Amino acid sequence: MKSVSIFGATGSVGLSTLDLVRRDPDAYRVVALTANSDVDSLATIARETGAQVAVIGQARLYGALRDALAGSGVEVAAGEDALVAAAALGADWTMAAIVGCAGLRPTMAALRAGGTVALANKESLVSAGGLMMDAARASGATLLPVDSEHNAIFQCLAGSSLDDVARIILTASGGPFRTRSRAEMVGITPAQAVAHPNWSMGAKISVDSATMMNKGLEFIEAAHLFPVGLDRIEILVHPQSVIHSMVEYRDRSTLAQLGSPDMRIPIAHALAWPQRIATPCQPLDLARIGRLDFEAPDTERFPALRLARQAAEAGGATPAILNAVNEVAVAAFLDGRIGFLDIAMIVEDVLDRYSAPRPGTIDDVLAADAQARAEAGQVMERLTA
Ligand code: NAD
Ligand code: MG
Repeated sequence: MKSVSIFGATGSVGLSTLDLVRRDPDAYRVVALTANSDVDSLATIARETGAQVAVIGQARLYGALRDALAGSGVEVAAGEDALVAAAALGADWTMAAIVGCAGLRPTMAALRAGGTVALANKESLVSAGGLMMDAARASGATLLPVDSEHNAIFQCLAGSSLDDVARIILTASGGPFRTRSRAEMVGITPAQAVAHPNWSMGAKISVDSATMMNKGLEFIEAAHLFPVGLDRIEILVHPQSVIHSMVEYRDRSTLAQLGSPDMRIPIAHALAWPQRIATPCQPLDLARIGRLDFEAPDTERFPALRLARQAAEAGGATPAILNAVNEVAVAAFLDGRIGFLDIAMIVEDVLDRYSAPRPGTIDDVLAADAQARAEAGQVMERLTA
């Protein structure tokens, strides 16, 4: 039996993970399930799976969760430190699917505990990639990418030496506004932005896909997971989201990984690795799909791509600042406080005015993250005044 913990269990990736775990109850024992504020969903899945512990991120919700799980035998905890403690319990396999930099401390604790960490939470790697990769090496933890593109690259690499890689080709759907002009993007509403053409995902990553900041974050994510050099990582727009990414080797042979756009496929890969398990996902029907299209990304209409590349080149704390400002700006957009095009504009504005020394510790990263959020708040105040 494999012991598994799911951080961000009530979210899109968390529930897809649970779906796979539940299909084979004899194969898995659930250690920790966590959520930020959705007490009812967390209590329901904790009871159903017989989890050892359920943790709610918001400390003030401790009483509500305790009441909801009364008599269940599930241990209850709350608050940020409790998330870290749950990660340190050291399940064999941990899904890191909290959204945003909020996942950084729990994910680091899981890496330090030395098991297998399936990483969906790309923001933590963008903010603290060097420190996370170091932690994994030090503890012997196995870090498996769940983001569909990075999971595809991992599969295409199949253990090959990075020295043999000519290019990593990161595919992008282009999001719901792929063909729109800047002028046509001005009045985009949150409801339009979260309606992704191919994938069903949480609100934050859906907005990131619409601005293409998601691909920018994934570029930085790829640079940490597969350190071939930034000039060897390319973004290719592929609207059908059938090819999840490719690796071109120096002999000019290119391998691609294909599949239906269903996160349970990369999650199942990480859950079973190095074996394979069956999933309920749709087989790929290429005859029905008929054609696959490709185009170059447009950094004029999608400046987030340029900003992320610049942040990756600058290194140090810059990617953490980029990520923090983007998180704040996306939340403000979803709240109706700023416009769609303001998101990348605010990120650029803060990157121009604020920098922080290269972080040596997670606390340094979190300090840069907090300061960047404060700077973003000021920019937004001026914008909406
Ligand atoms: P989601 O919004 O659906 O779920 C987020 C989860 O994190 C929820 O369980 C929520 O309770 C928890 N959470 C949110 N804020 C928290 C906080 N401050 N403290 C503790 N827990 C908190 O998001 P999602 O779409 O499942 O995405 C999760 C992560 O996976 C993101 O980093 C995203 O970029 C990445 N990812 C998602 C997909 C996808 O298809 N949804 C694909 C690739 C990568
Ligand atoms: Mg992705």
